[in-house]
Amino acid sequence: MSDVSHIAVIGAGTMGSGIALTSALGGKQCTLIDVQQSQLETARAYHDKQLSKLVAKEKLSAEDATNAQSLLSYTTEMGDASDADWAIEAATENVEVKKTLFQLMRDTFNDEVVLATNTSSISISDLATAVEGAEDRVIGMHFFNPVPVMKLVEVIKGVKTSEATTNATIALSEALGKIPVPANDFAGFVSNRVLMPMINEAFHAWEDGVADPEAIDSIMKLGCAFPMGPLRLADYIGLDVCRDIMMVMYNGLNENPKYLPNQKLVDLVEAGKLGDKSGEGVYNYTKE
Ligand code: NAD
Repeated sequence: MSDVSHIAVIGAGTMGSGIALTSALGGKQCTLIDVQQSQLETARAYHDKQLSKLVAKEKLSAEDATNAQSLLSYTTEMGDASDADWAIEAATENVEVKKTLFQLMRDTFNDEVVLATNTSSISISDLATAVEGAEDRVIGMHFFNPVPVMKLVEVIKGVKTSEATTNATIALSEALGKIPVPANDFAGFVSNRVLMPMINEAFHAWEDGVADPEAIDSIMKLGCAFPMGPLRLADYIGLDVCRDIMMVMYNGLNENPKYLPNQKLVDLVEAGKLGDKSGEGVYNYTKE
């Protein structure tokens, strides 16, 4: 488990593309895998843009940017990364999607490879039940958005996760310049257990007419020193991701109605308004 040199990242959306870039900047070969070719193309364009920006700001040499680019590859076939020595699943926040992917990961990579998940809220022990015999290698490795900037990795052990897997996850997080912090395996862990109800409440405040989105965000930025208001943050995270996390917490925390996603949030998702990634959510970004 030591000396990780090739990371397979499954899911090339907001998080997978960020994890891949961070891996390459950390000197690791990284194969990014997605079922949608268009997502891989968007990820590649994002990588090229971010690396050019770093060079322009003199935070990275042109040579290091070229080196990072050469470490990245993109594919729709997980088998193309079968020699990877670490796997991080960062696909859609859906337990069945992730369980199917975990089985494919177990069958694709060799028997030593850690099977990490970037899930925001789904139980690690539950995901591990999908890969009988490999439960000791399953762990939560929860990065934050934008991955190249945010320092935290929330590390979540399942009931059968081994010490070797945990230690290796901490070591890899540190090698990528991150700060790993442990949390226990409850729906939403720490970060989303605290953050998501606050975001959801901001939607309730908007729905009730307490204030419009701009005012809600300004009040929370100016009054609570948040770098971004909760509704702006929801767009940045992805409104579908926010809704899915609330549902995982609702189902995983005794169906407590306080975790039900707000109707306005659900309506926006159902209208295809997912936030930054679709161009419109609470706010419209197409004119920016
Ligand atoms: P996203 O919607 O931007 O991307 C998800 C990607 O997964 C898509 O590209 C989709 O095509 C791909 N995918 C779906 N099924 C797949 C499969 N079977 N094989 C390969 N790829 C598949 O979502 P995201 O925001 O990147 O979130 C990914 C994970 O990270 C989720 O578990 C989410 O909860 C978690 N997360 C998200 C954030 C955030 O701020 N968005 C932060 C931390 C963790």
